[in-house]
Amino acid sequence: MRGWRAYSGPVPLSPDEYREPLAHAVQHASDWLNSVPSRRVRPRDTIDQLESAFALDLPEGPTAATEVVDELARLAKPGLMAIGSGRFFGWVMGGTLPAALASDWMVSAWDQNNGLRYATPATAAIEERAGAWILDLLGLPAESSVGFTTGGTMANFVGLAAGRGAVLETAGWNVNRDGLTGAPKVTVLAGAEVHSSVELVLRYLGLGEPVLVAADEQGRMRLDALAEALDTISGPLILALQVGNLHSGAFDPLREAIRMAHSHGAWVHVDGAFGLWAAASPRWGEALDGLNTADSWATDAHKTLNVPYDCGVAIVARAGAAQSALTAHTSYFIRDDAGIADPMDRVPELSRRARGIPVWAALRSLGRSGVVSLVEGLADNARSLADGLSLIPGAEVLNDVVFTQVCVAFGSDERTRAVTQALINDGVVWMSGSRWAGRDVMRISVSNWSTNAADVATSIDAVARAVASL
Ligand SMILES: *Cc1c(COP(=O)(O)O)cnc(C)c1O
Repeated sequence: MRGWRAYSGPVPLSPDEYREPLAHAVQHASDWLNSVPSRRVRPRDTIDQLESAFALDLPEGPTAATEVVDELARLAKPGLMAIGSGRFFGWVMGGTLPAALASDWMVSAWDQNNGLRYATPATAAIEERAGAWILDLLGLPAESSVGFTTGGTMANFVGLAAGRGAVLETAGWNVNRDGLTGAPKVTVLAGAEVHSSVELVLRYLGLGEPVLVAADEQGRMRLDALAEALDTISGPLILALQVGNLHSGAFDPLREAIRMAHSHGAWVHVDGAFGLWAAASPRWGEALDGLNTADSWATDAHKTLNVPYDCGVAIVARAGAAQSALTAHTSYFIRDDAGIADPMDRVPELSRRARGIPVWAALRSLGRSGVVSLVEGLADNARSLADGLSLIPGAEVLNDVVFTQVCVAFGSDERTRAVTQALINDGVVWMSGSRWAGRDVMRISVSNWSTNAADVATSIDAVARAVASL
């Protein structure tokens, strides 16, 4: 009789083999996290040094798991950026909330391939709940499809893929069956300061470059320019709006832009990678008026919500439009009888980790009031940083600080670049160099839940020191 045989390879395994490496991982992770509040932000070593540290040829044979974990922690540490630091303001990143991090570990331990409700009911149910909470918090249509993607880029992909299919269907073209060759041309309108990920996704979707609509001095789409653009375009149309400009934090004028676009039959997608969370707070109620009238929205959980990488959220008002673009048809998926969309019908991937679980945990631990405090706190810290920095001789805050983003210049482009470099070399704080409104800027993004008043004061001092060092 052919029986089931236990694995007996070169590394004898038993369930107990997890215990020690996991215990070591907890220790290393705690050591790292405990060092973050007081350590320099920038990595100590360069990529060249890290490549040397990891130059080991593939070993001929096995190494004990605990030894691997210890070696990893030891070798990686000098090359880690303290992105979780309250003094890290680079790009738009964010740290990780304790409940989100701990539950992310559970996601790995459970190792659920969260594609089918039938096969992985616990993680599917938790993600469905997390999705419902997000719609509730942000005031978006309750029947929307919510999918957990790798990030904002793929969340933009989902919204724009759904939009592409829908506007072509209206034009009498089935893109799923007939592809794009010979299809009516789909025009995509986007603001002049559209995020590069939207342009990237349009390339994935075969839609080419968007037609750019002029923006005002804060980077918001101009309604007069939109009206002009709409007048010149006929045929299938998608409008990509933005909630949270990378440099100014500004929001596009939603209600009017969406109304105008809809009257031309357009699909309206909103890229709110970090800014969509403002909808949780009444503070931005007026600025975001009309948000819920769009057709799709993209956001990140790994930025403003502070869950670990990687996690984006793709929301599509007409769930059927998302499913039409994303559902895979094969014989070997056993589908849930209720006909409800499976996790894999809401995102581009088939196999994936249950990355919505840390979102559930973050929201469960914060509650509604905690999310509001988190988002408002980030914006308050941005305001305090802008106020403090504007007192530094020669510093000029270039944007209206309406959310979490601040752009500062220090005279000439050359001088601004020098201040940013001096600040990064100093290491107490990280702020990114960028270019906006025709000038080099030092850009600050307040995205970390743990940034406190002391971090803000220390950071202002560090910038003043960098300026004085020139
Ligand atoms: C970060 C960002 C994106 C892309 O999100 P990823 O998570 O990096 O894929 C898109 N739009 C805006 C405005 C962003 O800030």
